[in-house]
Amino acid sequence: MTATLGETQTPTSGETSANPARALVCRGCGAQYPLIAQHACYECFGPLEVAYDQDALSKVTRADIEAGPQNIWRYAALLPAGQDPATRVTLDPGLTPLVAAPHLAAELGITAPLWVKDDSANPTHSFKDRVVSVALTAARGLGFSRFACASTGNLANSVAAHAARAGVPSIVFIPADLEQGKVITTAVYGGDLVAIDGSYDDVNRLCGELVETDEFEDTAFVNVNVRPYYAEGSKTLGYEVAEQLGWRIPEQVVIPMASGELLTKVDKAFSELVEIGLVEAPANGWKVFGAQSAGCNPIATALHNDTDTIVPVKPTGIAKSLNIGDPAAGLYALEAVRRTGGWMEYADDDEIRDAIRLLARTTGVFAETAGGVTVACLRKLVASGRLDPTAETVVYNTGEGLKTIDAVASLVGPTYRVKPSLKAAREAGLLG
Ligand SMILES: *Cc1c(COP(=O)(O)O)cnc(C)c1O
Ligand SMILES: [Zn+2]
Repeated sequence: MTATLGETQTPTSGETSANPARALVCRGCGAQYPLIAQHACYECFGPLEVAYDQDALSKVTRADIEAGPQNIWRYAALLPAGQDPATRVTLDPGLTPLVAAPHLAAELGITAPLWVKDDSANPTHSFKDRVVSVALTAARGLGFSRFACASTGNLANSVAAHAARAGVPSIVFIPADLEQGKVITTAVYGGDLVAIDGSYDDVNRLCGELVETDEFEDTAFVNVNVRPYYAEGSKTLGYEVAEQLGWRIPEQVVIPMASGELLTKVDKAFSELVEIGLVEAPANGWKVFGAQSAGCNPIATALHNDTDTIVPVKPTGIAKSLNIGDPAAGLYALEAVRRTGGWMEYADDDEIRDAIRLLARTTGVFAETAGGVTVACLRKLVASGRLDPTAETVVYNTGEGLKTIDAVASLVGPTYRVKPSLKAAREAGLLG
């Protein structure tokens, strides 16, 4: 693939803004590349990130955004693809509920406003629809004709659904031991689904090899060769929270980490909003907190050990969507958490199950295991004093409980079982 986004994505309608993306820049050494399908630096192998024309971003106003569609594309002028609606490969995700959580706050001893950003409300029920919409829109602009990914579950759902909507063939790769709820909700969309006998990290390595072959030359792997564009989709989870709070950045955010990319991009989004003048920086800045499971905690462990050396692990445990043992953005997540004065925690499987139930009982939000991880870590961060209970906090639920229903299946059920008569109801104690 030699196409660049600039050449192939000329807007076709007069209504749309130009693409504000300017280049791919190496996060390691700063080397610059055109907007092509490439994710690692030829000089230092560091990951590439989209850089923008700052003047173009600065022209964006709150009114422009507020007049936009009720989905992530209201932020198109801040993204590297999709300015022209006709070019979008999308299920129109985004603008998911920001749920006030006073009962959860009370249980945890938090006195300031606490919010749950509930991204299970997206079309395939996880935040991955955001990153996939941006990645595949860029991919189509770059000339790719097949869509693929290496997935811990939710990404496979989303790529398969986006491909189905667009009428483009797809091939998604997952570890064979995923939850049934993630396998079925991917397979139903009809693309190729390849189960690999190995971990996510094995799947990812294989996809890195496949993408180099002639047979896959036409194929965009959303989190491999078009990863820089994919990563930018996560910024919308920062923009949206700020807009939903009335153009304000919360003092603290708690974010689940797999590769660590989402965390770094929420932080990037907040920084951009301040830089381009759409929000004022909070007086004391914002603090970013990261959440992992005890079965896969390489980033949190590096923070706790006060090192930049992230030692890959072999993941275990029920939070499979977060089970990346060798996290690509781990270093950058560490940097964001240290710079902002946040912290990271991890929670074991029992704590995760407890937290899923706590969140459901106090907010009406049924989270998948990743949401359980995040709420369990929120609880620990309050208990240890790392998170200020008097500062406004947003906790991110990134996925849907129905996809990982086994996590709590043996812990909950009917409170009573009663024959259908008033007498039986009385005998069972239903009338007190
Ligand atoms: C993929 C995923 C994440 C984390 O994504 P990264 O950007 O890789 O850290 C969090 N929650 C859920 C439910 C996910 O599927
Ligand atoms: Zn480099």
